[in-house]
Amino acid sequence: MSERGRTASPSALARAAPADAVPPPAPEASAGQTRVLIVEDEPALLRALRIDLRARGYEVHTAARGQEALDQAARWPPDAVLLDLGLPDRDGTEVIRELRGWSDVPVIVLSGRSAAQDKIGALDAGADDYVTKPFAMDELLARLRAALRREDTVRPATAVTIGRTKVNLAAHSVVRQPATDVDGDGDGDGGGAAGGQARPEPVHLTPTEWRLLEILLRSPGQLVPSSRLLAQVWGPGFEHNAHYLRFHMARLRRKLEEDPPRPRHLLTEPGMGYRYQP
Ligand code: CA
Repeated sequence: MSERGRTASPSALARAAPADAVPPPAPEASAGQTRVLIVEDEPALLRALRIDLRARGYEVHTAARGQEALDQAARWPPDAVLLDLGLPDRDGTEVIRELRGWSDVPVIVLSGRSAAQDKIGALDAGADDYVTKPFAMDELLARLRAALRREDTVRPATAVTIGRTKVNLAAHSVVRQPATDVDGDGDGDGGGAAGGQARPEPVHLTPTEWRLLEILLRSPGQLVPSSRLLAQVWGPGFEHNAHYLRFHMARLRRKLEEDPPRPRHLLTEPGMGYRYQP
């Protein structure tokens, strides 16, 4: 906490905000390219990796310190992390352990330490793979592709149905199928399906709503703790701002649920978190 207090001023602002204030939007997240976070304190190696990965079409962010890596991962959720173990402020193994508190992102460790004990420590902390320096770039890229493939196979289907609403996670689109009787619940789309042509209507979600929904839909039937949602959507330091979740979940229900006050799919587990019930 002492480390973070100096850098994470947004969390201080969040605590100071009155409980009924409109929560700030979550940090930006763009769809499209595969995103890799490189954590390495050797400038020459960091630069080489960044150039190589960008040349291969990856979207790259970098960090030279452990705390910076955690902040980056929270604000800009990567699809994979390449992580040096010997960092100036904290040990890479500790970074993995903290990251695993709220993220399942594949982590490939890059390390000059070749002792079995170091590898075991990093893998036990939650790393997915381990590359010993110096390494051939081709080998690292092959391991990165393998880690991303594994990640893809454990992800559930990208199209999910919530009542009359169809959510396509890959295409980032939501459409609502027309109902036989329309209750026009004022989500800005109008209730214009009354009479005549019944066509699916697009539903607009904000980036924050998308992030929340995506996390819930990727764990169908499972309880997702509030602290994890807050850390993943707003970043470390926001774990106690439960009112952000109440606000945005209410909006999601208004947009997606058939009967928002009595939700059937986006459920609250009081005092614990939220659950997407298929
Ligand atoms: Ca290092």
